[in-house]
Amino acid sequence: MTVNVQPETIRRGAHPDKVIAKAAVIGAGSMGAGIAAQFANAGVPVVLLDIPAKEGPRDGIARGGVERQIKAGGFMHPDAVRLVTTGNTEDDLALLADADWIVEAVIENLAIKQDLFRRIETVRKAGAAVSSNTSTIRRADIVAGLGEAFDRAFVITHFFNPPRHMRLVEIVSGPGTAPETLAKVERAADIHLGKAVVSAHDTPGFIANRIGCYWMAVAALEAIRLGLTVEEADAVLARPFGIPKTGIFGLFDLVGIDLVPHVWKSLEATLPADDDLQGFRLTADPVFAAMIGRGLFGRKAKAGFYRPGADRSRQVFDFAALDYRPEAPADLPALNSAGRDLAALIADDGKAGAYAWSVLSRVVAYAAAVGPEIAGDVAAIDTAMKLGYAWSEGPFELADRVGASVIAGRLAAEGRPVPALLAAAAQAGGFYQDEGTRVAATSGGFVSPEQPEGHISLAAIRRTASPVIETAGAALWDLGDGVGCLALKTKMNVFEPAVFEALERTVSEGPRTFRALVVGNEHPRAFSAGANLDVILKTIEAGDFAGLDAVMARGQAAFHALKYSSIPVVGAAFGLALGGGCEVLLHCDAIVAHAELNAGLPEVKVGLLPAWGGCTQLLARFAVKPGVPKGPIVPAVAAFQAIAAGTVSASAATARDLAILRETDTVTMNHDRLLTDAKARAIALAEAGYTPPEKLVLALSGPSGKASLMNIVQGYRRTGAMTEADEVIAEHIATVLTGGAADPLVPLTEQDVMRLEREALVTLARTAVTRARIEHMLSTGKPLRN
Ligand code: NAD
Repeated sequence: MTVNVQPETIRRGAHPDKVIAKAAVIGAGSMGAGIAAQFANAGVPVVLLDIPAKEGPRDGIARGGVERQIKAGGFMHPDAVRLVTTGNTEDDLALLADADWIVEAVIENLAIKQDLFRRIETVRKAGAAVSSNTSTIRRADIVAGLGEAFDRAFVITHFFNPPRHMRLVEIVSGPGTAPETLAKVERAADIHLGKAVVSAHDTPGFIANRIGCYWMAVAALEAIRLGLTVEEADAVLARPFGIPKTGIFGLFDLVGIDLVPHVWKSLEATLPADDDLQGFRLTADPVFAAMIGRGLFGRKAKAGFYRPGADRSRQVFDFAALDYRPEAPADLPALNSAGRDLAALIADDGKAGAYAWSVLSRVVAYAAAVGPEIAGDVAAIDTAMKLGYAWSEGPFELADRVGASVIAGRLAAEGRPVPALLAAAAQAGGFYQDEGTRVAATSGGFVSPEQPEGHISLAAIRRTASPVIETAGAALWDLGDGVGCLALKTKMNVFEPAVFEALERTVSEGPRTFRALVVGNEHPRAFSAGANLDVILKTIEAGDFAGLDAVMARGQAAFHALKYSSIPVVGAAFGLALGGGCEVLLHCDAIVAHAELNAGLPEVKVGLLPAWGGCTQLLARFAVKPGVPKGPIVPAVAAFQAIAAGTVSASAATARDLAILRETDTVTMNHDRLLTDAKARAIALAEAGYTPPEKLVLALSGPSGKASLMNIVQGYRRTGAMTEADEVIAEHIATVLTGGAADPLVPLTEQDVMRLEREALVTLARTAVTRARIEHMLSTGKPLRN
């Protein structure tokens, strides 16, 4: 057994509203070890137990689970691993005694789980919650015979795989669950683990898998029955339905076709005989049977519905021949003309239309029929499908897109049953009544789905208010309590002139209305992907290098003004924060970052260097980073390595290593809480009597320091890590970070260093290498190594 230290520094990510101090997970398979890793990512110490290993260390199985999570990227930072204490269920059960929440994630077997719960009851402290990650067993069956105290402490928490990245957790409580248990688990799942909590009823498959497995069976079997090919079915489902581009057969390949006999058989065995899923028996289908018999399990077997052919081509499983043939792009005219328009597609009388209608009508009718049994309102089901299956809209949102009355009317015309919930929605004009408040249908009428407390939504603000300032590139919104939020709205939130116009106006006019500012937005993936490269390339192509210098000078001035604004500015960072997106964060007084943050200065990949103050501010950040020796050289080396390699963080925790986050910056695990936490930080800064930072002065090492940096480059050149062109760019970066001809005894101002940034950028922009890199990035989305 390893007992680990839990240094306070690793817990920096902890949310101020700490719900639990310690967790435990039993079962170190893909789910259990993944959930333990996520507790550790949140800074919560966690005990991870599995059965004792027959050979080697007794905690070998639990350790193996941790090792697999390290390889699979389950941990956000190598240090987080130290928060996991491994052990085994025979020797170390006492380690559970001080856990506030014990999660069971052992194999799917009721007797084994119940036996474990009986043993947990002998050590569990009063008030600690217990949950099971079961996917198929009902809560009522688990608690039977385990006593009232256990019943009060117990819920099901159904996580999705991989636990770090899948945002959904379905929580099933029962009549015996104590309200404190439910509240504790819901809040800990939300605040510590960053999950979106959906409450589900105690029914087979809960919500997402009940609807998802039905959909998968219908989509696969109807494609085969209606004579569509694998490619055609996947194409019909992907764009018009807003389902990931794996479609249906690509999804089977991803999850593993060998799961079919287990997952679907379990549902077929537990659902009543009149459940519509019983009419779509995947387990009896000859195509699936043939594939399973031949070991064609999907990606893990390197052969499923798709398999790699020669020269990067793919082969596809043919339903009639029960063998592979070359992939042939779907050629369905109805699909081309309908695009994303599902209503137009289902009106088509060819096979694409027939298939789309069959899948849509069955999934909507099924969701409406079982909806009241499995969930409190339709919004819970839509959320579960969006977060559990990555659909861009849930079944009821899809139905509203086409028209609930259109679907109900056509079902009736075809003599098929119209479930009561669908009939009611058709009558009322949709499953969602009021776009403003998104009132959602339940079996008994309409409710306003609760916005979880502490989740500010710009989308909701936008529905009822107007922005204080708005340009084509960004808008300044009022978050209330004297806090404004500047939200970019360009494609991938890139910086371009209209964004700078909004930023300049925000800095000059914002303090009249607000006491603090947040820079943040609700894009699904990108805080900001950086500068609009199109604008930069066009300026270069026009030979307008004075114009390029002006673009850089404008950005520098705007970010500089933001940094020295009279009111505090908090960056609400998440997802991609690259180049200019990272530079704006480097100018904020504080950053509140979502745990999933890919931030960095990768300009070198397009032949450039950060020139909106990024080199200057990163250097300043490293100069004050704890543990970095003082003096001009070490901070310059650190900033140089990050910028010359174009390093991008793999998480907020690694962004701290890169000095993008300071020690004082905080991490929020739940993306939905990011703006709320950023606003709270902004208010705290304002109330602490904010004064702008003192003007920065930088004592840089000049030519001697540059020589040290170029030694590093020579090392990279020798190993082949850098090309000749990389060396040229690196030399410019080295010049900037060491202050050009600077004398170490004469400190430079930020403006001095930013001038060097601009000079270097414009020089690089004149080169063929840089132009080729930008063109390549714009046309392929990938860096060119020239
Ligand atoms: P897994 O097979 O990867 O891991 C199960 C682990 O439990 C193994 O390490 C095993 O040694 C351990 N174990 C078995 N009996 C034990 C006992 N008596 N005490 C302690 N440990 C024991 O399984 P998994 O995929 O991680 O699934 C675990 C649970 O999560 C199951 O209930 C499953 O239904 C559920 N679940 C799985 C997924 C998924 O996608 N894999 C998703 C949601 C829920």
